Parts: sequence; C-alpha cells; structure tokens
Amino acid sequence: MSASAPITQDVMTIPRKQPEGGKQNLIGLTRDGMKEALQAAGTPEKQLKMRSGQVWQWLYEKGVRDFDLMTNLSKSYRALLEEHFVIEIPELVTKQVSEDGTRKYLVRIAGGHEVEVVYIPEEGRGTLCVSSQVGCTLTCSFCHTGTQKLVRNLTAGEIVGQIMMARDDLGEWPELGVPNPPEARLLSNIVLMGMGEPLYNFENVRDAMNIAMDPEGISLSRRRITLSTSGVVPEIARTAQEIGCLLAVSFHATTDEVRDKLVPINKRWNIETLLDALRAYPKASNSERITFEYVMLKGVNDSDEDAHRLIELIKGIPAKVNLIPFNEWPGSPYERSSNNRIRAFSDIIFNAGYASPVRKPRGEDIMAACGQLKSETERVRKSKRMIEREAGLS
Ligand code: SAH
Ligand code: SF4
Repeated sequence: MSASAPITQDVMTIPRKQPEGGKQNLIGLTRDGMKEALQAAGTPEKQLKMRSGQVWQWLYEKGVRDFDLMTNLSKSYRALLEEHFVIEIPELVTKQVSEDGTRKYLVRIAGGHEVEVVYIPEEGRGTLCVSSQVGCTLTCSFCHTGTQKLVRNLTAGEIVGQIMMARDDLGEWPELGVPNPPEARLLSNIVLMGMGEPLYNFENVRDAMNIAMDPEGISLSRRRITLSTSGVVPEIARTAQEIGCLLAVSFHATTDEVRDKLVPINKRWNIETLLDALRAYPKASNSERITFEYVMLKGVNDSDEDAHRLIELIKGIPAKVNLIPFNEWPGSPYERSSNNRIRAFSDIIFNAGYASPVRKPRGEDIMAACGQLKSETERVRKSKRMIEREAGLS
C-alpha cells in the first residue's frame, strides 16, 4: 500500500434506492424520503402528509416493527405497506456486558458484515457509541479499526438502526404515546465514535442523525450528539449546517511530523488547515465547545512541550481537551503513557484555562474501549509489519 493510500476513499456504498422488485426498507428514509416512497407505493397525494406522519410515529416514537400493529391505519393500507416495504434494523448477533456495565453489541448488516456498537451507562445518562462504516479507509496507526481492510459505508437505516437496536435491548421504547423526558433516558447521548470515519459517509450519517433528532420520534437534542472526525476538512462546515451536532476532533499530535504518522489524513489536511476549519465551525461557542481528542502515547506525543504547543495551537477556539489513555489491542505498536504523565499533561492544559478530563477507559475487559473495536469476523487484517510500516516505525 502506498503512503497516499490512507486518504483514498474506495468504499462500497449500498444504493440508497432498493432494486426494482425488492421491498424497500422504511428505516433510514428521511421525512421527505418517506413521503416519496409512500407516494410511489400508491398513497393518494392528499393523504400523504398524514400517512407518512403516522408511519413515522409508529416507527420512531413507538418502536413498532410490524405493520399489523399500526392500528390507526386501515387494514387495506397496512396491506399496501406490507406489499411494498419492510421495517429492518441491524440484527443483534451477540451482546457482551462488561464488569463496569458497558454493553458491547455485535450487529449484522446486509451482506453479512458485522459492526460493533457500545453502550456506556453513566450516572444520570447513557451514551451509545455508534459506528458509521464497516472498518475504516483511514489507517491511524494506533487504532484497531484502521487495521481492518474491508470497508463499506453503512446506510442511514443501519446507522439509526443501531440506536433502535440499543433501545430494544434497554427496553426503552415509551409506552404508547408517552415520550420519556430526556433526563429519564437510559440512552440519552450519541457519540459517532465507533468504527469508521463519519465524514467519509456524510449523507448517511446526516440522514440518520436527523431521524434521531426528529421531535416526533427518538427525539435526541442535537447537543446530545457528538460527531468525531479525524479531520475531513471539507465536510466540517457542512456538519454544522446540515446536522448541527457537537464536534470532536481526533487531534492527537502537536506537530505535522508526528500527526502525519498517527493520523495519516494529516498529509492531506494538515494541522493549520484543520484549525482554520475549526475556527470557522459555526456552532463553536463557549457553550458548545469543540472537543479535541488526544490519545496519550508513551514517548510519542505526551511531553510537557506537546502540552504547551497544544495550548498555543487551540488558542481562540472554544475548546476542551479530552485525554484518552491509549487502549492496547493485539499487535498495537504503542504503549499507554503512565498515569503520572497523563496527569501532568492534563494539569498544564487545565492551568491554561481548558477543561482537560482524562477519559476513563470503559469496557476494556470486553475490548469495547475507544479504538479497540474491530469485528473479529472481518478476518482479513493487516500484518503487524504493515501496521508498523504505515506508522513509520519500521
Ligand atoms: N473515525 C473517527 C471516529 C472514531 S474513533 C475519528 O477518528 O475521530 C473514536 C476516537 O477513539 C478517536 O479519537 C480515535 O482517535 C480514538 N482511538 C482510536 N484508537 C484508539 C486507541 N487504541 N486508544 C485510544 N483511543 C483510540
Ligand atoms: Fe478510522 Fe478514526 Fe480509527 Fe483513524 S481513529 S482509523 S479515522 S476509526
């Protein structure tokens, strides 16, 4: 693989329209998409708004998966839906529960591919870490997902379907018509920090998040959704405009030389270009800060000088710095910085006026922590030597 390979985007995308003759999945269609689909199936124009609203509520507010249970629709209309559509979310294959309560789900999607989804319960809230691709075309040298060769973009239905599957498992669909208040929710927050680079699958991620935010459905506020990107600069402004969620950036280094090795997309859009895009991120304000994720790698990016350089770089951007102790995986070419080093680094950032929490690794015993995700069934993997070569370590 050449040095420029990591930034190519040679990814299989499932066609957004179903092939002729096949039944179309209603899950993942936007509001407009749903209307179009219902119209094409024969819903009279003047009923369209009402019908699509009713179906939408059954699917996303009540969690119903069976047309027969949609009792405010006539029998004949239910039969029409049955004839043209299916209601499909990813299939839950296995669930592992960590000692700390973290749940890791392995789900199967069309084509037999599998992705991982992680639910992290916390005091008064619960966060679902959602995947946007099978594998990832980028090859960040510290990330397990980046070693998976096979990549395919998830559809919008497969992305929002992960949220629906988790709500099934948590038993969190409200009793008919009584929505849960956000503060009482088990699944209250979404982070797009699972497998894949969400901004390399922009449209599907956008549509899925807009479905999740819709007030007549899953109804999560945009402030409870955080999208993490490795730095796909051209899509950053669109993220604010078309999704409006919070943004996290996998920063991880304070010089281009080191970032080129850790996050190879830096060769395409370097630190300065990335920071310019973040400064312009329209939603950035003191209440909606950008999260700078920074993985702590022993002897690579964790010196006091790095901490001071980081402060200089992010000056002027409403920011917080999330320090992530490196999570090891079989064959990983790095080591985690010591606790003392992480604390010293965090203190420097904190003393400069930025929140600098250290992310507590969750679900490590079940390989559910950040960067450990990689479905074992995708057996094709790169060799250790290849990983090291790409990291510039050999
Ligand atoms: N592709 C996106 C989102 C998924 S990764 C991105 O890179 O931002 C979620 C976070 O986990 C990223 O900040 C990523 O850099 C970090 N990460 C990846 N591998 C890790 C590891 N082994 N240990 C700790 N954090 C890791
Ligand atoms: Fe892909 Fe993110 Fe992993 Fe990099 S850190 S390889 S962008 S999933």
